Amino acid sequence: MNRIVLNAKARITTPFGPNHKNGVDIGWIGGDGDNIYAHSDGVVTTVVTGRKKNNNTSGMDTYGNYVDIKHDDGFLTRYAHLSQVDVKKGDRVVVGQKIGYMGESGNTYGKHLHFEVRRPDGYSTNPTPYLDGDFPDMPNGSMKKVEPVVPEKPGDDYEKVAFKVGDKVVPIKLIDYNGTSLVKYDEYYTITELVYDRAVLSARGQVWCAMNTNNIELFENQ
Ligand SMILES: [Zn+2]
Repeated sequence: MNRIVLNAKARITTPFGPNHKNGVDIGWIGGDGDNIYAHSDGVVTTVVTGRKKNNNTSGMDTYGNYVDIKHDDGFLTRYAHLSQVDVKKGDRVVVGQKIGYMGESGNTYGKHLHFEVRRPDGYSTNPTPYLDGDFPDMPNGSMKKVEPVVPEKPGDDYEKVAFKVGDKVVPIKLIDYNGTSLVKYDEYYTITELVYDRAVLSARGQVWCAMNTNNIELFENQ
């Protein structure tokens, strides 16, 4: 998380999960360690200031003073409960640029940063994997689904495999730890192995799953 709070002592005090669905809380550090920095290059789309600590707030007011940045790859980050904001709406920011200072404005239990990541399709996602790294390579509105190749020999499962090793694909039937189907346009995976109708998928340098090729879709740039 050194990318958002440039201090090795920063730690997650409330993780992303069923009780904290929108983001993570990053704990109080003190001094210059409470400076907040832009996660990636982008444009400031929202700035809210002038709010104090107030535990009776609801809705968007719970965020207190906050900054939204729309990044060049389509992701959006939100930095909330700030005590000081150093950017204004429309500002172009670069990765590592100071945008504000940690605080306890809005509905807070104490000084901390509430950090959110929203994907290009608008869904909130767990920020933890990206606290000190780039966002994943993701499909967006400019991607087009490629129809599977029609098998030339009916009944021949091997011929139904319309993919090849190295293709970028999107799994459509992954189940998360709560038993919930993930949103279809989740993240690109690369096929690293194909065995008949099974594909082994990897993303961000790690092997993630083996799937039936009926459950993955191939996309290309439009
Ligand atoms: Zn929070």
